[in-house]
Amino acid sequence: MNLLSLDHLAASYGATQALFDVSLTLGEGEVLALMGRNGMGKTTTVKTICRMLPMTAGRLSFSGQDLQGLASHQAARLGIGLVPEGRRCFGNLTVYENLIAAARKGAWDFEAVLRLFPQLEERKTQLAAVLSGGEQQMLAIGRALMTNPKLLILDEATEGLAPLVRQEIWASIAHLKRETGLAILVVDKSIKELSAIADKAVILERGASVWAASMAELTPEITAQYLGV
Ligand code: ATP
Repeated sequence: MNLLSLDHLAASYGATQALFDVSLTLGEGEVLALMGRNGMGKTTTVKTICRMLPMTAGRLSFSGQDLQGLASHQAARLGIGLVPEGRRCFGNLTVYENLIAAARKGAWDFEAVLRLFPQLEERKTQLAAVLSGGEQQMLAIGRALMTNPKLLILDEATEGLAPLVRQEIWASIAHLKRETGLAILVVDKSIKELSAIADKAVILERGASVWAASMAELTPEITAQYLGV
């Protein structure tokens, strides 16, 4: 059974329609790469899944439940954990407070997050605002894990980070795939790293899903056609 299912989904920012026809499915334990050039609707799709933006047509279900009409906190409670674009940690709270504020019962607790990101240990009493970009990204991932989600959504989690830090983030995502049964939806521009980790991919163009297949089927011709690389 699919954990997440989008069926001809449409969504608008007020009068501006941004999603026209997005369909995708994600099963438990699967990693899906959501791809597309700038402005094609990736973040909008993520916001719609997380119920931060109203859907105007289509169907959206998670864990067998229709998400239409649910608020973002209800989607989070059902098990959708978001690592938003731009990280959005609470700068005036400490690392510990950021993590504890998100906590829900389950295997992911403060200690488990520190095991995944040992760098945060020595930072735990510092304000999130003083962390490096990479540490803030680790905190944002840790915060989403603290909700003990069934699905983790990472929106541009490696954007703006130094190459070595990006590798650390990719390694942590690979670890999550390997060691947990978490389903993961990743939005990122690094095709090489996505190819190494994703089971399947969906490409968006102007608010519509135009290509969907296993990651192995993503040929250079397809990336040239839809991603411009
Ligand atoms: P990027 O890779 O640049 O983040 P994206 O694929 O995530 O791009 P979205 O941010 O989802 O693209 O944008 C999809 C479309 O929705 C774009 O045409 C964009 O201009 C529009 N859009 C995004 N945010 C808003 C907003 N707050 N109000 C109105 N239109 C918006």
